[in-house]
Amino acid sequence: MRVYNFSAGPSTLPEEVLKEAQRDLLDFAGTGMSITEISHRNKAFEAVVNEASSLLRELMGIPEDYAVIFVQGGASQQFAAVPLNLMHTGTADYMVTGNFAKKAWQEGKIYGNAVKVADSSDRTYTYIPDVDAVPFSENADYVHITSNNTIFGTRFVKFPQVKAPLVADMSSDILSREIDVSKFGVIYAGAQKNIAPAGVTIVIAKRSLIQSPLPVCPTMLQWKVQDENNSLYNTPPCFPIYIALLVLRRLKALGGIKAINEINEYKAGLLYAFIDGSSFYRNGVVKECRSIMNVPFVTPSKELDEAFVKEAAGAGLVSLKGHRLVGGMRASIYNAMPVEGVKALIEFMKQFELAHK
Ligand SMILES: *Cc1c(COP(=O)(O)O)cnc(C)c1O
Repeated sequence: MRVYNFSAGPSTLPEEVLKEAQRDLLDFAGTGMSITEISHRNKAFEAVVNEASSLLRELMGIPEDYAVIFVQGGASQQFAAVPLNLMHTGTADYMVTGNFAKKAWQEGKIYGNAVKVADSSDRTYTYIPDVDAVPFSENADYVHITSNNTIFGTRFVKFPQVKAPLVADMSSDILSREIDVSKFGVIYAGAQKNIAPAGVTIVIAKRSLIQSPLPVCPTMLQWKVQDENNSLYNTPPCFPIYIALLVLRRLKALGGIKAINEINEYKAGLLYAFIDGSSFYRNGVVKECRSIMNVPFVTPSKELDEAFVKEAAGAGLVSLKGHRLVGGMRASIYNAMPVEGVKALIEFMKQFELAHK
């Protein structure tokens, strides 16, 4: 029996995609082999990479002069790849709006003058600082942001308008809402939240920015090299790329990002409205900064939080335990979480409140 899986990542995938992958597992595209067994130089696999990148271009409206590449090492590897590809003069700005943003900044400091230009840790990352009031450096090689803060449940609604190329870690909200890619220099995302199983990371980068990686940049981290080799410089994560393709095809059939964004707003709206209308549950995030992907909430006590997570799991609503830095609960309601899953969660929350109030 399938459960509703609210894990922050790796997270739930569309059931139809899993069934399709299961169906094709023994014989992929008439090869008589599984996708996990064929060479990455096989024409059938090359077609997977090409279709996945062109679908991503189409869905996100990625301009022609941007590279779309599939790499390994997770978003965390990109924390190093960003300075190694872009930090030419040695200064870069970081908005530290959460734990991953902080890690990106700390990694940046290894390579140069990574300036923390904004920091919302004073109120445990429950808000996004006003982007118009941030003292960005005059000479920054780039400005790094985390568009959605997975652990704390915040997101940028407005992106900073800066001279330097804007670099965004979109691991937990890529493909969930429409964005203007041309406003960004680089976008990267670990796939295991909204796109695919863990193992593949997507990088979208303006080609003119990535032509001269730092001399110490490992070959594997050079976006230019990955781009020139169509993500096939070495063996790529074949299976996650294949699942990404199935997810992208399904997203297109659903009506694209605009359509999924409406569903996402609807799902998050239901959950926040219920929490706000309750005197039992609470979400501590500044309203305008609330994520539509990750919704942290608490009951009146730690003991009840613990009971909630346990009883919810018993009712088929799993992985609701909040991150250790925040405690309480967190419902991650990515693209693949059906509306029924959110409704089932709200129904359970009502029952739990009645039983424990
Ligand atoms: C999950 C996550 C990461 C870490 O991704 P890995 O693929 O595990 O390295 C980084 N940034 C954000 C915003 C995330 O949600």
